[in-house]
Amino acid sequence: QDRQPGLESEMSPEPIYDDENYKGAGKLEGKVALITGGDSGIGRAVAIAYAKEGANIAIAYLDEHEDADRTIDAVKAYGVEAQKFATDVSQVENCHQLVVDVIGEFGQLNVLVNNAGKQFPKDDFLEISPEQLRETFETNIFSMFYLTQAAIPHLSKGDSIINTSSVTAYRGSPELIDYSSTKGAITSFTRSLSANISEQGIRVNSVAPGPIWTPLIPATFSAEKVGQHGGDTPMERRGQPAELAPAYVYLASADSTYVTGQAIHVNGGDFITS
Ligand code: NAD
Repeated sequence: QDRQPGLESEMSPEPIYDDENYKGAGKLEGKVALITGGDSGIGRAVAIAYAKEGANIAIAYLDEHEDADRTIDAVKAYGVEAQKFATDVSQVENCHQLVVDVIGEFGQLNVLVNNAGKQFPKDDFLEISPEQLRETFETNIFSMFYLTQAAIPHLSKGDSIINTSSVTAYRGSPELIDYSSTKGAITSFTRSLSANISEQGIRVNSVAPGPIWTPLIPATFSAEKVGQHGGDTPMERRGQPAELAPAYVYLASADSTYVTGQAIHVNGGDFITS
């Protein structure tokens, strides 16, 4: 999808969730977090929330643009170290190099947030091309395998892997069949891997966002769909990235030491039908 630099600041969503006055409680002090898609939207909010809790931050993102610098500045305002890495995480060699670079920069890695994602809406399932299918799977799910494989040898007891899933993994989406399939795969990946590496004391969880107002939405949906975005939730509104970030903090911190293989749903609620 086309990047729209600076778009997020122009979106200026009304402050529903007040995170401005919360200065953090040192929950991630001494940790290093790598967040893919950390320049923008949800990843940017997670990077800032982690910095508030004292973590040093590495962000990875696809294209060099000003949002990455804005995120680094926002993170450094909390007195932590921060580094940006422009790299395509859909490619295996880039993922291994990224982890080498992060370890080279910070000397350790404790939290991996697999958050980079892409979607290409298509009303007609038959129009999903092999190229679109490949790009969606490579970005959303292959990157997760590659980066997680590269990261695990550097993780130890108490460290965490957190994957960004989606409400579409659970509810389905008629115009995002390839995308929702990758997000469904993230659920199984998270559960299976958590059981595979729990003996090492490494926890693996996911966050499943509902409709969140980020640059991804206007970049990929029609104006009509953007206007309706979030209207189909019980709360009848879309969420803001900052409203998701506390779930990522919880899963990365010692507050969640008995939680693994799970999904936290931050989505404005599910409609219950009787
Ligand atoms: P966004 O467009 O603001 O962020 C997506 C990020 O992914 C960008 O920073 C981009 O640089 C990065 N990215 C994409 N392809 C990449 C690649 N090949 N290599 C490296 N980085 C790459 O969108 P967002 O809404 O913040 O999305 C973040 C995650 O949240 C995605 O996985 C998305 O599927 C998921 N999600 C979003 C919503 C929503 O409503 N916004 C809902 C559910 C799930």
